[in-house]
Amino acid sequence: MTQITLYNTRTRQKEQFEPIDPNNVRMYVCGPTVYDRAHLGNARPVVVFDVLFRLLRHVYGPDHVTYVRNFTDVDDKIIARADESGRPIDTITAETTQWFLEDMGALGALEPSHMPRATAYIGQMIAMIEALVEKGHAYAAEGHVLFDVNSYAAYGRLSGRSVDDMIAGARVEVAPYKRDPMDFVLWKPSTPDQPGWDSPWGRGRPGWHIECSAMAHDLLGETFDIHGGGNDLTFPHHENEIAQSCCAHPGSDFARVWMHNEMLQVEGKKMSKSLGNFFTVHDLLAGHDGQPGIPGEVIRFVFLSTHYRKPMDWTAEKAREAESTLRKWRGLIAGAEPAPSPAPEVIAALADDLNTAGAIAVLHRLAAAGDAAGLKASAGLMGLLSDEMGAWTATGGADLAAFAEKLAALRAEAMQTKDFAQVDAFKAALTAAGVEVRMSKAGVELVPGAGFDPAKLEGLK
Ligand SMILES: [Zn+2]
Repeated sequence: MTQITLYNTRTRQKEQFEPIDPNNVRMYVCGPTVYDRAHLGNARPVVVFDVLFRLLRHVYGPDHVTYVRNFTDVDDKIIARADESGRPIDTITAETTQWFLEDMGALGALEPSHMPRATAYIGQMIAMIEALVEKGHAYAAEGHVLFDVNSYAAYGRLSGRSVDDMIAGARVEVAPYKRDPMDFVLWKPSTPDQPGWDSPWGRGRPGWHIECSAMAHDLLGETFDIHGGGNDLTFPHHENEIAQSCCAHPGSDFARVWMHNEMLQVEGKKMSKSLGNFFTVHDLLAGHDGQPGIPGEVIRFVFLSTHYRKPMDWTAEKAREAESTLRKWRGLIAGAEPAPSPAPEVIAALADDLNTAGAIAVLHRLAAAGDAAGLKASAGLMGLLSDEMGAWTATGGADLAAFAEKLAALRAEAMQTKDFAQVDAFKAALTAAGVEVRMSKAGVELVPGAGFDPAKLEGLK
């Protein structure tokens, strides 16, 4: 069996991955708060952990991996969005959840085994908070319940920071009802017009952190294998998840391996609305600000060309290169059946702490060697070159390379005869089929353009 090695944030080293139960490898990844379209940065963990999900399924079997990714559908940002827009919360969360699934589907992400919504787990959250109060790790004050950070000696161990550093680095909300400024909210009171549930501490709603602890416990048990998310969640969110879960279930480990992806930039800069480089996944897919849409497969390829623990720089140039590579590869695999299994070098690269860039280098070698079957099977393990993802190239089996060769031959002939009528007619027919014709001294290149229609090429063969 393939040995997977993963970098564990908790131990700060690469470790051999040994699942607790190889028959049920369990992974939790923090999901979105549903009040708006996912931006490009939100998509990175989805794609990164989708590759891990695929790898785990390949190694342990598709029926032996449980992947949970939640939807946070109760949150102050959602309440604020409902207030601004005058639309009901349920409508906003249902719509945004659907958008998220569509956009991530377009990036080739498989749906996780479970996608729990926080509001369906309020009972489990209340039970966990009660257990924390009972064990002396939490206290009620003015309608709130707070986690007592000083009751958990290992607090801060994941991020490796001292409590003083954490206070300095984070916006810690100082409130009169807190014993310590670091104590965080497990439950808070709701006004009559805010969403709320009855609890031993009055009508209220959960804090964000307790959601993940309660849903992970319910669906994966006290101790499971992998917990993932963006590295912006390490503190305080993941630190707080660990404190809650380990204190509610003494003797458990909660998650054994913690994995964090680095952040995403755009053209070398942090994505921000003020810099005008902020866009959603949907913007990119559909086209925005006069830019044409970018196929989901191209976005996925660009993401995977950078290792998940390095900052990912999204650039238009990378997208162009990825598009041209994928077009070539799709031309090569047209009509080919995938090999029975992915190339061992591709599996080895992915098993080495998800070295997706290394795996792509192997795909380039397979393509250069003309190994269509190996390329299709190996790219498939990474969620690339699948039939479902290929609609954007839709060459309909048309071999543009053959047409390019024919055009080049006609041109060579015309150079001799000085009669360019045939060249012009052929070029016109290609253009009419939506093919972009690029002729230079170096040769002829044909690229499917926006209105590409392979059916119109039929008569040209
Ligand atoms: Zn979480």
